[in-house]
Amino acid sequence: MTPNDPRLTSFIDVSPDCHFPIQNLPFGIFSTAADPAPRVGIAIGGQVLDLAVLAEAGLVKTAPEGIFARPSLNPFIALGRPAWRETRARISELLRHDNPALRDDLSLRSRALVPQAQARMHLPVEIGGYTDFYSSREHATNVGSMFRDPKNALMPNWLHIPIGYNGRASSVVVSGTPVRRPNGQTKAPDAEFPSFGPSRKLDFELETAFILGRGNELGRPIPMAEAEEHIFGMVVMNDWSARDIQQWEYVPLGPFNSKTFATSISPWVVTMEALEPFRVAGPVQDPQPLPYLRQTGPQGFDLHLEVALRPAGAKSETVISRTNFRHMYWSMAQQLVHHTISGCNTRIGDLMGSGTISGPTPDSLGSLLELTWNGKTPLVLEGGEERSFLQDGDEVIMTGWCQGEGYRIGFGKVSGRIEPAL
Ligand code: MN
Repeated sequence: MTPNDPRLTSFIDVSPDCHFPIQNLPFGIFSTAADPAPRVGIAIGGQVLDLAVLAEAGLVKTAPEGIFARPSLNPFIALGRPAWRETRARISELLRHDNPALRDDLSLRSRALVPQAQARMHLPVEIGGYTDFYSSREHATNVGSMFRDPKNALMPNWLHIPIGYNGRASSVVVSGTPVRRPNGQTKAPDAEFPSFGPSRKLDFELETAFILGRGNELGRPIPMAEAEEHIFGMVVMNDWSARDIQQWEYVPLGPFNSKTFATSISPWVVTMEALEPFRVAGPVQDPQPLPYLRQTGPQGFDLHLEVALRPAGAKSETVISRTNFRHMYWSMAQQLVHHTISGCNTRIGDLMGSGTISGPTPDSLGSLLELTWNGKTPLVLEGGEERSFLQDGDEVIMTGWCQGEGYRIGFGKVSGRIEPAL
């Protein structure tokens, strides 16, 4: 049986709606109070499997020595796809219900398995570069309608180029990191001069992102036929945005301070191997893209996505958006090919955001900007509170999963709470 076989079961308890069954096995970096050194783990059920401990016990291959005892996945990713596949297949074998090697070694189990509640998660990769795309047609259309002209919502280049910009890698943070409301320049349309102060239109952007598993040399673009070979895995991402700062600053070079204050990612990297069974065709591309961007075969993924908002002080959260990654117009392969067509090099660990993922219906929009139509129609949350944009103390929680028969290949959560501006 392959590691993706739906019939596989583990000796670790996994409920049908758990994100981390034996078919998933996402990689992350974690530490514990008892051992504060960040190291490589794999999520299984409600536990983290410590690969450094398994390597020490001789149960997984560790060449070079200590590859799983490192504080980022980059050295492991650098070993290449055969090593990723081999490690995932070996862990799958060790976790099977009928394999006694780990199951019956209670001493090893107590050292190698840590409840997720006791694990502190860290950024999974060292991120040298962060690029954000703008690849949801619905999102681009909504924003164009709001800020420019509903009749010509899409810019003339949009159907030909996977639009993107170079983001800020230094402020990418792992889920759970507080997000401070930024100060910045804003200008109301009827104001004569701009003013400075805390953003009053703080927003989230529901995105996924892929992590580079193999780079390319400067001057050597990645051809379409090889693009997917360069992708290690995916995370769910909240690309926090200050809309009032953005609207004033973005002409002509694009967003700057409105996006640089924080970008949050989920801690577990779900491998492309685990996502393979959920591949689907993306939207038909018309007009046909230029030859270098043409792809064959299905390049989308059937990945459910949800956003929940928990207002300051509230006990419960309200799900405010449900959508799916399969709506994305430009694929990850097209984004990567376009990114490097100029000769731009990429490196292992680089993070490439999808752009806000909005679906075709009013309840499937991936930002408050769209959900409240720039604040004109506030959302009513459970408990009666209203929101146009985020207030201090609000927490945004995003999640995503692919639904298999009786199991889920999930991403866990990416959350962040808003702290008051300095
Ligand atoms: Mn974005």
